[in-house]
Order: sequence, then C-alpha cells, then structure tokens
Amino acid sequence: MMHFTADQIALRDMVRNMVDREVRPIAQKVDDDDAIPENIFRLFGDLGLVQIGLPEEYGGPGGNLTSVCIVREEIARVSQACALVAARNWFSIIGVLMNFGSEEQRRRFFPEIAAGHTLSAAAITEPEAGSDPASMKTRAVKDGDSYVLNGHKAWVSWGTLSKYVTIFAKTGDVERRGIDNISCFIVPADTPGLEFATPERKLGMRGAPSGQMYLDNVRVPAENLIGEEGKGFLAAMRILDLSRPTVGAMAVGIAQGATDVALDFARERQQFGRAISDFQAVQFMLADMQMHTDAARLVVYDCAARIDAGNLEGIAAKSSMSKAFPTDVAMKVTTDAVQILGSAGCSKDYPVERMFRDAKVNQIWEGTNQIQRVVIAREMLKKR
Ligand SMILES: Cc1cc2nc3c(=O)[nH]c(=O)nc-3n(C[C@H](O)[C@H](O)[C@H](O)COP(=O)(O)OP(=O)(O)OC[C@H]3O[C@@H](n4cnc5c(N)ncnc54)[C@H](O)[C@@H]3O)c2cc1C
Repeated sequence: MMHFTADQIALRDMVRNMVDREVRPIAQKVDDDDAIPENIFRLFGDLGLVQIGLPEEYGGPGGNLTSVCIVREEIARVSQACALVAARNWFSIIGVLMNFGSEEQRRRFFPEIAAGHTLSAAAITEPEAGSDPASMKTRAVKDGDSYVLNGHKAWVSWGTLSKYVTIFAKTGDVERRGIDNISCFIVPADTPGLEFATPERKLGMRGAPSGQMYLDNVRVPAENLIGEEGKGFLAAMRILDLSRPTVGAMAVGIAQGATDVALDFARERQQFGRAISDFQAVQFMLADMQMHTDAARLVVYDCAARIDAGNLEGIAAKSSMSKAFPTDVAMKVTTDAVQILGSAGCSKDYPVERMFRDAKVNQIWEGTNQIQRVVIAREMLKKR
C-alpha cells in the first residue's frame, strides 16, 4: 500500500521476521514484569535499530524518518514497549545534535551512540509543568565554565537505563515564565546530584520505565549546552515536530496488531453454531478497524515523507495530525478489538488487553491530543 523503496521493504521484512522470532514470545512477559530483557537491547543495538537515523558519516546505520516509522510500526504490532527501544536516541541525542548541536558535539557523542548500546532520555516535563512547559521551574545557573542545575523533572522515560539525559531548564531570567529562557543540556546520568525515583507503576507502555528525576546542584560543563542559551524550547518543539510521526507509527502498529488478533479470533470463535465472523455486526467492526488503520498509516507516512523531502511548510500541524489521528484510531480500534474478543478480550491471555492500555498512553504522552489540536487549529486560523 505504501510506496516504500526496496531498502525500506527489506528493512520492514527483516524487522517483521525478527519480531516474530524474538519479541512475540516475550511481549506479554515484558508487560507482566514491567521490564524488557537485556538481550532485546543488545539485539536491537546489534541490528542498528537503537541508533537508526544516525547518519553514516558519523558511523551510524543511516535511515530517515520513514525508516524509523517502519521499524516502530512493525515492532509495535506486537509490543509497544519494545518498539520504544528502537530509535531510542532519535529525539534526545540524534535529533538535538543534528539540528541544534555543534560539529564538535556531534563528533564527541555520536561514536558511542553509533555502537548501538547507549540509551538516552529527554526531560522536559515537571510535576507542575506538563502541557505548559513555559512554566517549568528547573534552572541552570552559569558558574564559571559550567552550569549548575537544580529542579525536579517528572515522567522521564528510560532515565534509569540511560547514559545521557537531555535536560531542559531555565537560564538567564530563571524566575520568568517564558519560552525564550529555556535551554537544553546533554547531561551524563551519573553526574553527582542527579537522582531518579522508583519508576511509576503505569497503565500502559509497561517495560519502558518512566519516573521522577531530581537535580541537586548538578554541575554540567558549558560545552554540553546544545545550541544557544534560551533557544532550547524552540529546539524541543522543532525536534518534536520531526519525531511525532514515530508515535503515530507505533499507534498504527498497535491498531494493526489488534485488528489481526480480532480477525483471527472472529474466524475461530463459534456462537449460535457459527463463527462470530459470520455476523454482520462483527464484520462491520472489523471493516472499520482496518479502514481507520489504513487511513492512519497514510497520515503517518505522508508526514514522514514530507519531512524526509525537506518539505517543511506547515509541518507543525501535519506532525500533530500524524500523532493525534493514529493514536485516536488506535484507541478506538483496540476498544473494538476487546469487544470482538468478549470476555477473552478482558484477559491477559490475549494481547488486545495490553494493546488497549498502550493505546491510551499514546493519546497523552509527547503532547496530549488536545494540545495537538491546539497546534492544528492555530495553523488553520493563521492561514485565514
Ligand atoms: C508514559 C509517559 C511517558 C512520558 N515520557 C516523558 C519523557 O520521557 N519526557 C518528558 O519530558 N515527559 C514525558 N511524559 C510527560 C508527557 O509529555 C506529559 O504527560 C504530557 O505532556 C501532558 O502533561 P500532563 O500529564 O502534566 O497533563 P496536563 O498538562 O496537566 O493536562 C491535563 C489535561 O488537560 C488538558 N489540557 C492542558 N492544557 C490544555 C489546553 N491548553 N487546551 C486544551 N486542553 C488542555 C490536557 O490535554 C489533559 O487532558 C510522559 C508521559 C507519559 C504518560
């Protein structure tokens, strides 16, 4: 259906086979244990999936946003938590350094990322600053040739497993609510004064740890400031514009995975002496599930193709659509998948129960779907 290149089709098929072999057998255990086995990280790093998108000139496997979306969609058909291991450094290191870092910083950090066994996290959210990051309180005060960071971040995903955390903090006039006084720093996670709390016990995306992070006089060399002081928020928004389709791609994966399970179940399950797939009410649900999943896939890959082609006109709105629409579709599709499975859909013996919980989280993180609509409407009203 999609117009992928031969290389992208080969990548998709390689990942699909790998997922059947390595991820499917452990997908439910990841959710039950709230942990991903160590060998998955190693395997994904060896296959170039953790570091996908890092250009070959820096020793990486290369690949564009479309490739990242393909990989994440394929893995999320079976496990969203494992899909998040792929392209783990796409936003927090590769995105920030390719778009806003200096050549010296790229040469400093990329060789280690290219090897595929280093994870990173991004810390924007705070307990009192979610949709409204301008109200963040974490501050970075210049002291000689370093910055001293103090504050409290929330919902930092992968922080406990990461070597680096990309931290957004107020600089300059730190008391002022604003977006032009937020800066971005890459901070080694073992820097004295940086501590992580026990991860949250989450509804979905279990296996991908998220939790609070405390900064108590964390001293960071000034050379770890990314881009200009005060331009960190703009950098974050720009990079999110360039990475939201990857969340949409995972939602498409979840929706397709749930549709496939529901279809197989409907063919097998007998009631009133016939397969439930014989009932038109069930057929129409299945048809809607596939129709909406296909539409969501088009939105994702259209946005990714625009970004890959450097066609960035109105991209904030397109990017918001590529996150909000597929994640809303995945919520509806997984709800219907649970319905088609009936009581079996409420059991952890079938993956749709987990997919339903994962789908919900995708409507919230990386900017809630209400905030995505704010962005889309703003762009529409600007045009008028
Ligand atoms: C699983 C998970 C992983 C996460 N990982 C990370 C991470 O790695 N790094 C990180 O920095 N953050 C992370 N987050 C945080 C996430 O980005 C925020 O949760 C999200 O931006 C929403 O913020 P909030 O939860 O504080 O909700 P709030 O901003 O308090 O919003 C609450 C409700 O109000 C609505 N609302 C708020 N403002 C408006 C408005 N202007 N118009 C309409 N509705 C509005 C929201 O849509 C939502 O429904 C993660 C969150 C989750 C759940």
